[in-house]
Amino acid sequence: MNKFKQFSIISALILSSYTQAKEEPKLSWQSTQVADGLYMLSGVGGFTGGNLGLSVGDDGVVLIDDAMPSTLGIMNDAITAITKEPIDFLINTHVHGDHTGNNKSMGDKGVHIVAHENLRNHLLTKGVQFPDGSMKSASKSSLPVITFSETIDFHLNGMNAHIFHLPHAHTDGDSAIHFTDVNVIHMGDTFFNKMFPYIDFTSGGSLDGYVEAQKTVLALTDDATKIIPGHGPLATKQDLQGSIDMLEDARKLVSDLVNAGKSEVEILKLNPLKEKYESLSWGFITTEKMTKQVYYGVTHSE
Ligand SMILES: [Zn+2]
Ligand SMILES: [Zn+2]
Repeated sequence: MNKFKQFSIISALILSSYTQAKEEPKLSWQSTQVADGLYMLSGVGGFTGGNLGLSVGDDGVVLIDDAMPSTLGIMNDAITAITKEPIDFLINTHVHGDHTGNNKSMGDKGVHIVAHENLRNHLLTKGVQFPDGSMKSASKSSLPVITFSETIDFHLNGMNAHIFHLPHAHTDGDSAIHFTDVNVIHMGDTFFNKMFPYIDFTSGGSLDGYVEAQKTVLALTDDATKIIPGHGPLATKQDLQGSIDMLEDARKLVSDLVNAGKSEVEILKLNPLKEKYESLSWGFITTEKMTKQVYYGVTHSE
């Protein structure tokens, strides 16, 4: 079953209930300063896309991810409220349309787009995949002009931004951005805080790679680290540890059932994650969907 499709139906239902309500919901971007000159921007009032990062200062403006196309106007307003200077660089954490949806607008304005080489290849060969499951071909101006295979570093605005690839996690083109001087890490969708993650197996993601990515980042954190997840609220080291613990426990719960000879259908019926992890369920990834992902991961690990 197409998980994106399910999400889209739920979004549509939410949207229609909103439009039927007397008061129209107001979509907006809320900014949180996480360090001097560094911000996390999160959508409120509905689905706007993944959390953004924004670095501003004497040397220029660097944006991390650029959300859904429908949110372009209010996203630009939120950025302009922080800086009137033009955006110099855009870093895409991964290929999904809720993180790359405004690349064309950015590229057309002369913003230099930076991303892992696999992300550019995905855009060239498959296009952009949106949360409703639709694919859109990528125009030339939406493509990254600077790519890397392992790491790349920015030295701007008085802080180093170390960008590094996390292989086969949420997709095969994921990057995290570590602002080493100010102890802030943007993880893109290698971290959904306080909600079940989505793992895009069709784009090269994997369950074990996902856990490995979180452990790699965990090793860079301390109790003061601020973590910007792809989705969910600003996070701490403890939140990330909680996610790793949940994923490892879920893996064990499901693989014990696989080893006991249960089929996927039987395991889904048992819904082994419901008792402990129901609170992490959301419209797109319910306990059943999460079990399906873990089952796939367990039965397709190398
Ligand atoms: Zn996302
Ligand atoms: Zn994603």
